Amino acid sequence: PGTVGTRPTRVMVDLANLSHNLAGIRAHVGVPVMAIVKANAYGHGLVPVARHLQARGVDQLGVAFVEEGVQLRRAGVTVPILVLGGICARQAGQFIAHDLEITVSSLDKLRQVEATAEAMGRKAVIHLKIDTGMERIGVHSYSSRAFIEAAAASRWCELKAVYSHLACADDPRSPMTALQLERFLEACAHFERIGAPMPLRHLANSGGVLHFPQTWLDMVRPGIALYGVLPDPASRRSIDLRPVMSLVSQVVYFKVVRAGNPVSYGATWAPAGDTRVVTVPIGYGDGYPRALSSSADGRGGQVLIRGRRHPIVGRVCMDQFMVDIGADSAWNEDEVVLIGAQGDAFIGAEELARMAGTIPYEIMVGLNGRIPRHYV
Ligand code: PLP
Repeated sequence: PGTVGTRPTRVMVDLANLSHNLAGIRAHVGVPVMAIVKANAYGHGLVPVARHLQARGVDQLGVAFVEEGVQLRRAGVTVPILVLGGICARQAGQFIAHDLEITVSSLDKLRQVEATAEAMGRKAVIHLKIDTGMERIGVHSYSSRAFIEAAAASRWCELKAVYSHLACADDPRSPMTALQLERFLEACAHFERIGAPMPLRHLANSGGVLHFPQTWLDMVRPGIALYGVLPDPASRRSIDLRPVMSLVSQVVYFKVVRAGNPVSYGATWAPAGDTRVVTVPIGYGDGYPRALSSSADGRGGQVLIRGRRHPIVGRVCMDQFMVDIGADSAWNEDEVVLIGAQGDAFIGAEELARMAGTIPYEIMVGLNGRIPRHYV
């Protein structure tokens, strides 16, 4: 409200493209979709994105932490929500009270959840986490039988699903995915061995959705692909995905910098001849990476002004940075596109990440609450 909404720097979220991506993923896989909305829906805004996906009939949502799930419930989101992260004992009651599904990643945690559920007199809905090669959370597939047996026999836990997470599915050539799938199916076979009903099985992240149909099983868990971004430069665009996020700002200052006069902190860059330089009001205090500062070997970020690419010069500051527009002209309040399209030019989150030496995930989730989100 107030001044926040008038800031010229803003994240534009294209909800029609989000719908398009959800529909495209669904048609491609033909199984239910758990849309991953953790980390503020990858920077797009947790509640508005979740509400939109719910209205489009998404089957389930996935978040990382119980707090994110509680926020969604308080906002009136009613679809099933799985909390993907590990659970700590003192938070178990919050999951059950807010009807959030729990990732149970060890026998110990199963016992903690059972004790809490029994004390509350209300069953917990759980997804068992099997580790098939990520070595993050979950019971190793090769020693999962007792864990699966205990969960299947639990009186206070309703066993809804069993799942694992792929470490290398963003690369279509990685042999790791086939190995992880084999280990996962081997763990799932314990249900048959012990005569217990098979719960839902889910494994595929965006990389799995794009490259490995065998991993789709009973449900998929795409995150980044929903937002129209590829998980890795090696990924195949096997579905028509449209970028949901743009990041735009405005020229806030124009000047001519004389030859040899350095620009920004550290005086790391100076023009060889007189040049035109504009200032853009966004910086690393907003999550726009300082790694996009220009470097001596010519690397650094670029932005679009009047449909053309121009380089960032000098260091990115906390709230501003400078752009060399050379002989081009620009006026105060001209639009500056940092992520997205302007005329025929385009800078995707993938390309910006490459320029910053990181991954598009980090770019998108890093754009913080200082930047207002606008939904179109
Ligand atoms: N499933 C789990 C358990 C995750 O941790 C994540 C995100 O890291 C995803 C699914 C979605 O991954 P992606 O954004 O690569 O589709």
